Amino acid sequence: MQFADPALIVLFLVEIGHLITLYAVLRSRRLNEHAVRLLGGLCLAALGWGVSQMLLRMQLVGIVNNLDAYVLSRYGVYGLLIMAVLFFQLTRCYERKEDYGLKWWGIGAAFLLVGLLLYLNPFSWPDTFLPLGGYVFVRWLVAFGVLVIGWGVFSIASIRSTIITYRRTSSPLHRNRNKYWALAVILAVSSQGLLLGQKIIIGSLLQLLFIAIATCTLLTYALPDLRLAARRTVSYLIMTILTTCIYTGGYFAAQAFFQSEPGYNPITAGVILALALATLFNPLLNLVQRFINRVISGSRYDPNQTLSEYSLSISNILDMELLATVVVGLISEAMEITHGALVTIQYEGQNLGPANLSPESERSGTYRFRPITGMGQELPEGSISANSPLILSLRRERTPLTQYDIDLQPRFHALPPAERAWLSSLNVDVYLPIYAKDELIGLLALGPKISGDRYYSEDLGLLKTLADQTAVALENARLYENLKQRNAENERLNAELKKANVELSRLDQAKSDFINIASHELRTPLTQVIGFNDILVEIINTDPIEKNQALQMTESVRRAAWRLEEIVESMFEVTRLDTRTLDMARMPVILAEVVNTAIENWSQGINERQLTVTAQGISGLPPIIGDPRRLTQVFSHLLQNAIKSTPNGGQIRIIGQMVDSSNGNGNQPSQRYVDITVEDTGIGIAAEELERIFEKFYRVGNVLLHSTGSTKFKGAGPGLGLTIARGIIETHGGRIWAESPGYDEENCPGTKFHVLLPLNSVEEENTQLQQA
Ligand code: ADP
Repeated sequence: MQFADPALIVLFLVEIGHLITLYAVLRSRRLNEHAVRLLGGLCLAALGWGVSQMLLRMQLVGIVNNLDAYVLSRYGVYGLLIMAVLFFQLTRCYERKEDYGLKWWGIGAAFLLVGLLLYLNPFSWPDTFLPLGGYVFVRWLVAFGVLVIGWGVFSIASIRSTIITYRRTSSPLHRNRNKYWALAVILAVSSQGLLLGQKIIIGSLLQLLFIAIATCTLLTYALPDLRLAARRTVSYLIMTILTTCIYTGGYFAAQAFFQSEPGYNPITAGVILALALATLFNPLLNLVQRFINRVISGSRYDPNQTLSEYSLSISNILDMELLATVVVGLISEAMEITHGALVTIQYEGQNLGPANLSPESERSGTYRFRPITGMGQELPEGSISANSPLILSLRRERTPLTQYDIDLQPRFHALPPAERAWLSSLNVDVYLPIYAKDELIGLLALGPKISGDRYYSEDLGLLKTLADQTAVALENARLYENLKQRNAENERLNAELKKANVELSRLDQAKSDFINIASHELRTPLTQVIGFNDILVEIINTDPIEKNQALQMTESVRRAAWRLEEIVESMFEVTRLDTRTLDMARMPVILAEVVNTAIENWSQGINERQLTVTAQGISGLPPIIGDPRRLTQVFSHLLQNAIKSTPNGGQIRIIGQMVDSSNGNGNQPSQRYVDITVEDTGIGIAAEELERIFEKFYRVGNVLLHSTGSTKFKGAGPGLGLTIARGIIETHGGRIWAESPGYDEENCPGTKFHVLLPLNSVEEENTQLQQA
């Protein structure tokens, strides 16, 4: 009779339950090692606790004796504590948290340690103590209390962590799974609480239930939808109440109205009522279910209507953005989703030969995913490698894929963390692949439904059909987009071509100008050389030549040859500037000397043309480092240009000053420069020519209309002087540019040339010289 002790029987059955769970855990292939260890440990702890309780119970009912009840009950408490700790760890493992929850561990473990010390009493503390206000504290009772607090800490940590995770998940499938886990947590805490309070039968049953639910949640991928189950239960509950009310109400009504009628039989009335109810049951149930669905999850849709509307609306759309908006909008009309996008997929890898098109073919490279938002939040772009399990699955299976699948199915465990992170950032619930000629070209990425419902299998069926319908439209939109891109590219190329053409004709013009200039410039001195030579020969042949006459002739030939040499030298210098072989000295240069030499060079021309040349502020300028001969060449040329561009009687002013230029970067000291301007009252330069005059062989206006002569008004050279001047100044680390209000031969607005030369280099050079 003692074996029939109900607590003992329950404990025994619970132990068998635990053994079965342990077996299931050890056999499972879905669980990772960590989860197996924790779940296995939990089962073993529960088994150990059960054995200790069974032995205690056996002693109590007299099956065994001589057992130490104190030790056994102590092991019972240890078992419960171990289970609380393991369950906390298991909760973290379920939530895929990487850390160990050290904060909670610290607090919980401190209580457990103090409790155990009080319990085991290694320091031989007294069994009772009186700390405050005369209260007597029994040691083992305090120990038990402290241990219970430790257990409470771990339990609260599990509850808190579960609530946080539940709040964070928006995906209904994950939420559903979290609900199961929440149930396990509630059962774990309440069963352990009951067991600590010695409610053995109910406590151990709940304990078995919590371990079983936790194991099922971890082991089972497709957990039944609790929301749906709740909805069905409510429907049936309402139906039961409704039918009972109708039946009893009908029965009593029949009784009241027909009782006095002759031949009234209550049994017949009952049967008629039952028949009526049986006929009405199904339509009534439908009605109730639809009502519940509407109340809980909003509207329902008609798949056929959605499908036909969908095909009609998208068939003519070519614009990608519009297509995404219409596609996602229509889906949302039926299913009311939070957000969604049409994702185009571009394979970036080897060229696709016919063999490579097959879904089974191995590929390298990446797939670029570009989401085009149709509704709700913007989704970031991403790329997934061609041999990622996600791509393999999308290419082979052609079925809708949920984020839940990606998170939980073992085949996706190998997904690289970066790809996983990108997918999670999309906050998408379901992906529907779109194919064109067996090639994956896009996805419909849909966020969770607003109602919080999952995508049921009928939804997925319809969505798959919709995705298939989208293929042609997406392919058209892609082609159209490519075409648009190519068009834009063509237009860009055309514009570039036009620019190149303009540049080419300018270069062509420069080349013809060069030939014209060269022939024009070279011919004049050459004609002079030949002419004087012929005259000389004729004079020698006819009359005896006088010395003076001969000297005059040779002088003219010499000047013409000198001019020729000058032109050829200019050409040569430009070539040396181009090839960076122009020799340049580096020595301290007194700019006043340079400017004065330049003025002296042209003194004859200045007098002939009655021009006034003034120089200001030059003598006060500090010396700079450079090549005095080259700098004289620059100013000489600027002066020559000014003389040639200014009508007789005009003015040329040369002004020197110091300037500071800040480079905008507060950390570096500003650079100091000398700025020398050569300003004339000449014909000026048009704005569009201000830069061009520095180009090789460039001369303003028709080259053949210019007169030749070194100082004549509007006289022109080969168009190389400013090119050489800029080359020299830039080699000195400076800048040269022209300013003019415009070109006007009548009003002569004048031109101002700036030559900016850096000063710092001199100081540096001086310190370097001093250091040397
Ligand atoms: P060139 O050998 O013809 O003098 P440059 O390179 O020195 O060649 O000058 C190019 C052109 O710039 C000149 O042909 C002239 O038309 C114009 N130019 C140069 N300096 C002046 C100036 N001070 N005033 C007006 N035009 C100028």
